[in-house]
Amino acid sequence: MYDIVVIGGGASGLAAAISAKKACGKLSVLIIEALPKVGKKILATGNGRCNITNLNADQRSYNTKAVSSVMNSFPPAKIIDFFSSIGLECVADDESRVYPMSNTAASVLDCLRFEAENLGIEVLTDTKVNSVINKGGVFETDGKIKCRKLIVSSGGKSSPSQGSDGSGYGLLKAFGHRMTPLYPGLVQLTVKENLKTLKGVRVKADVSLRLKNGKEISHSSGEVLFADYGLSGIAVMDVSRSLMDNDCRCFLNILPDLKKEKVYDFIARAAERNPRQLLEDALCGIMPRKVGYLIIKNAGLRQDITLKELRKTDIVLLADILKNCEFTVTGTKGFDNAQITIGGVCNDEFDMKTLESKKIPGLYCAGEILDVDAPCGGFNLQWAWASGIVAGKSAANSLTR
Ligand SMILES: Cc1cc2nc3c(=O)[nH]c(=O)nc-3n(C[C@H](O)[C@H](O)[C@H](O)COP(=O)(O)OP(=O)(O)OC[C@H]3O[C@@H](n4cnc5c(N)ncnc54)[C@H](O)[C@@H]3O)c2cc1C
Repeated sequence: MYDIVVIGGGASGLAAAISAKKACGKLSVLIIEALPKVGKKILATGNGRCNITNLNADQRSYNTKAVSSVMNSFPPAKIIDFFSSIGLECVADDESRVYPMSNTAASVLDCLRFEAENLGIEVLTDTKVNSVINKGGVFETDGKIKCRKLIVSSGGKSSPSQGSDGSGYGLLKAFGHRMTPLYPGLVQLTVKENLKTLKGVRVKADVSLRLKNGKEISHSSGEVLFADYGLSGIAVMDVSRSLMDNDCRCFLNILPDLKKEKVYDFIARAAERNPRQLLEDALCGIMPRKVGYLIIKNAGLRQDITLKELRKTDIVLLADILKNCEFTVTGTKGFDNAQITIGGVCNDEFDMKTLESKKIPGLYCAGEILDVDAPCGGFNLQWAWASGIVAGKSAANSLTR
């Protein structure tokens, strides 16, 4: 019989176990992890650098106000302190994204593992929990391990190769908890247009996701990466959070730093300077050549058109397309490629101050399994650490009160 069992040794589970044990060293704490090692996903975060948190993260960064209490208790500064207390120093970049000073995600996982070991937290790996029951206030996982308090921190269903296969939802459903619909989030978009020739090209763009009636449902700015299936890059991943079941078009402003009139002037000046120049050669001065091809094609012009052949209306159309290049979204690259899951266990069935279930006393949730999501930039891990710390502390305090 353990005092506290944590299902899932990811970001939130490791934080939960450490904070529970720090709150009361006498408690026995066990992490049960499906994979051979804890924290596999942490190693993949931030392109191997782990964007731990974001100095600007607050309640407004998330899909729901339900995060308020947790975020007020453990804002980014306190998460940085938490890591400092376990021996990991962090630095922020000029966009307020916080990384480990070592610039490697392995340091983050190592410090969490060393601290867990130092505190005497037990870890059972290669063990996937398939069922949990509660008999007279005691939880029992797969008829084997018993505990007084249970923290479910098994993640969502994105990136299943890193352990989060959605099995945690079933455990909570069995306790009568409801789920909101689930969608892949922070994921690449597939589009109808053939972008094979642009594969690998990167631009800095404003990205807007709009419904068929033109209403914008999401926008972001930053890197866009063209792929053979569609669009990727941080700005596209960010807007993907709003796609869900919506029928959308994605618009790129490929020259966000140049006003439409300036784009027009640029082409007109090029035509004056060298009328025999090919349009595709002239466009090279402001964008990658392959993007120029796409714009010329979308404007319905001949690929070998020269500047002197352009009519005024063609230049206006080209400037319009550059500021509003349209793609028909057909879907996403799915949960296998998504960084996060949109939706989760209904937040209103939990006391969002302690993260304890309102239905089953002694049951807590932390991390992505709840209906909480945020854009790229350290906000999702911020939630994982903060909610893990709160759930671990709350579970420990309820045993020592
Ligand atoms: C490639 C990639 C890059 C990312 N980069 C960043 C970033 O830089 N910054 C950021 O803020 N966010 C980033 N994210 C998102 C972030 O990693 C997640 O939001 C965060 O890891 C969620 O933490 P969690 O503890 O809820 O779940 P997870 O980290 O997914 O951990 C869940 C754990 O539970 C285990 N598990 C699942 N089911 C069971 C079961 N039934 N029994 C036992 N164990 C189980 C899993 O094996 C896993 O170890 C990234 C995600 C991906 C995929």
